Formats: sequence, structure tokens, C-alpha cells
Amino acid sequence: MSVLDQFRLDGQTVIVTGGNRGIGQAIADAMADVGANVVIANRDGPTGRATAEALADEYDVETRWIQTDVSDEASVVSTVEETVDAFGTIDVLVNNAGVNSHYDVAEMPLEEWQWLFDINITGLFLCTKYVGQEMIDSGGGNIVNIASISGIIANYPQKQAHYNASKAAVDGFMRQLASDWAEHDIRVNNINPGYITTAMVEDYLENHPELEETWKSQMPGDQFAGPEVIAPLAVYLASDASEYVTGERVIIDGGYTVR
Ligand code: NDP
Repeated sequence: MSVLDQFRLDGQTVIVTGGNRGIGQAIADAMADVGANVVIANRDGPTGRATAEALADEYDVETRWIQTDVSDEASVVSTVEETVDAFGTIDVLVNNAGVNSHYDVAEMPLEEWQWLFDINITGLFLCTKYVGQEMIDSGGGNIVNIASISGIIANYPQKQAHYNASKAAVDGFMRQLASDWAEHDIRVNNINPGYITTAMVEDYLENHPELEETWKSQMPGDQFAGPEVIAPLAVYLASDASEYVTGERVIIDGGYTVR
């Protein structure tokens, strides 16, 4: 088998939470490009459906949009059931869905903390739990979580301790799960991006344009990147190319955390 063949996912089934836009959409596109059937699992119908249809048009794969709220257990259960009904097994789960907001802890309403944790970590747990049950039954799989450099460093000057705590939790969850589920041939790894130009970053910069220069000045490369820089690593971690890699987190941040 050639090196590039090891990156193929022909006929495999991949669920990408939040696959309708941003980093998730770039990952969904890359998974379809290497031959996987892709389920886009998010809340918004028009973008979810359009993304699934565009991938099926562009690549020789099957795709579906399944409306999913990762923080709602019944919704996750039904997405997993629908995926198994459609494709038989689930080979790869990309836990990408996530949200951010900005508050000083002293001013943060409890509801804000809970809302963010419900999506960023409880949602990731629910998807992992129910997809994991299928992977255990079918003999293995790969889980790739989108964590963040924010789980490792302090961001500046914006205040977001709840977000950073949730992303550090994703790292801890991944490490333990990689150990627990090795016996089921399930590998679990994280990607920890830096500043990526998606709605999450661009919406914030729209109201705080002065931060663009602040953030860029903290990066050796002095520039942001788009979500397409994350997708190849997701393919690597989801495929046989990384068969000996588990329990690992990989930072992609243009060198931000070097300084
Ligand atoms: P976007 O805001 O563009 O995308 C967020 C995605 O999450 C959307 O697809 C959204 O879809 C989905 N989502 C949010 N809440 C839910 C929910 N309850 N159920 C299902 N899906 C949900 O941001 P990014 O693409 O930038 O973010 C993707 C991931 O990358 C997140 O986990 C984020 O924390 C992480 N990340 C981003 C960085 C960046 O600089 N952009 C840096 C480091 C990490 P919908 O609203 O339709 O449900």
C-alpha cells in the first residue's frame, strides 16, 4: 500500500458534528475527498442540508444531514440510530461542534457557564458515548475531537475562562478515553487549533477590530489561517496513516503557543 493510500477512508462512515460550517465543514469536505460517506450533524437546516448535498455532488460518496443538538441526549441517540440505519456502522466520529462567549468570571451568569459546558463538553461526551457503543459493537473506530490551544494557554486580552476550562476538559477526557477504549480498538486523539478564521473568530473581530493586530503580533507567522489547514490532520488521525497514534493532542496554531 502506498503512503497516500493509508489516508483513504473509502466506504467508511464519518459523523462530523458542526459539519455545516467553519472547521467542521472543511473536515467534512476532506473526509468526503478521501472516500468517506459523511453525516453532517448540526442544528441549522439550510446550511447542514446544503453542505451535505454539495459534498455528494462533488465527490463519489453518500452524505446526509441529520439535525442534531449535541447537548440534547435524545437528539444524539436519534442521530446515531439514523446513521447506523443508513450506513450500517460508524467508523469515525469528529467531535467538532462548539461555542464560545466572552465574560469576566466575576460577571458570568451561571446559565452562560452551563450553556457552554452543555455543548462543548457534555455534548462531546454524549456523542462519544452513543457512537462509541456502536464502535465497540462493530470492533473499533476513530474519534477525533476539536479541542483548542485555549485549553493549554491563556488567551489575551479577551476573557473566556469558561471556554478555556471546557477545552482543557476535552484534553483530559481524550487522554483517559484513549486508554479506556484501546481494548476496543478505538483510537482517540485531539486537534488543538489556534486562531482560525471562522464565524467564531470573525464575529468577535467585527466588534473588536483592534484585536486582530494584537493576536497576530503574538504569532511568529503574523497571520491567521482558514479552516482548510485543520482538515488534513483530521484525515490523518481518522485513517490508518496514524494507526500507532492514540491519546495524543496536536496543536495547529501557526506557532502561537511557541511564544
Ligand atoms: P463556528 O462557530 O463556525 O462553528 C461552530 C459549529 O458548531 C457550527 O457548525 C454549529 O452549527 C455547531 N454547533 C454549535 N452548537 C451546536 C449544538 N448544540 N449541536 C450541534 N452543533 C452545534 O466555529 P468553528 O468552526 O471555529 O468551531 C469549530 C470547533 O473548533 C469548535 O469546537 C471550536 O471551539 C473549535 N475551535 C475553533 C477555533 C477558531 O479559532 N475558530 C480555535 C480552536 C478551536 P449549528 O449552529 O448549526 O448547530
